Amino acid sequence: MHRIILMGPPASGKGTQSLRIQKLLGIPALSTGNLLRREVESGSELGQEVDSYINRGAYVPDELIMKMVSKWLADNEEKGWLLDGFPRTLAQAEALENDDAFQAPTIAIALDVAEEVLVGRIAGRRECSSCGATVRVEPGAEEVCPECGSTELTVRSDDDVENFRRRYANYRELTQPLFDYYAAKGKLITLDGTTSPDAVFSVIENHFSQ
Ligand code: ADP
Repeated sequence: MHRIILMGPPASGKGTQSLRIQKLLGIPALSTGNLLRREVESGSELGQEVDSYINRGAYVPDELIMKMVSKWLADNEEKGWLLDGFPRTLAQAEALENDDAFQAPTIAIALDVAEEVLVGRIAGRRECSSCGATVRVEPGAEEVCPECGSTELTVRSDDDVENFRRRYANYRELTQPLFDYYAAKGKLITLDGTTSPDAVFSVIENHFSQ
């Protein structure tokens, strides 16, 4: 059974690869970023709390995200799963590995992309309001979702360069140490995320066909 975690800095292509891996392996996936944004949009009390972290580029507290993820996992433990954006801290990784409310991942996929490449991607990043896909738009070009054809593409509220820099700094400080954590367990594969989405995916596909 595949239990996959996908790691990488903001705009490294986690969402895009997540959709493809879900289709390839037929497993459910959870994007913690999407889950949190949906909570914010609902206007709930929890959503208002979450919003105060996301909109200043901070991670939400471990206990809060761990509760939300364990709830999702309880409904999805049978088929295997993919987690996009969790764990993001050592405390989250240790809970996933050891805590009864979670299950240990079988593989950790890390997408590696340099900071300046990411800044360029943030400016052109949109989210499809219809199917949820992450879409890249070129300056001046028509904005259409290549997955479903919808023209309703929105800019994520946390996608500005200043917010990105803070998320990236958090990522370097809090999430990058997980590479060593999973490497020590023999579970890490690191991929060059600067190549095309197809090229990144073909490496992933090869890995799962072995
Ligand atoms: P990105 O990878 O581009 O930052 P995500 O959609 O994965 O975007 O996450 C958006 C925001 O949601 C993060 O900046 C962070 O505030 C919050 N978040 C998502 N997952 C976690 C997590 N596992 N722990 C803490 N905060 C999280």
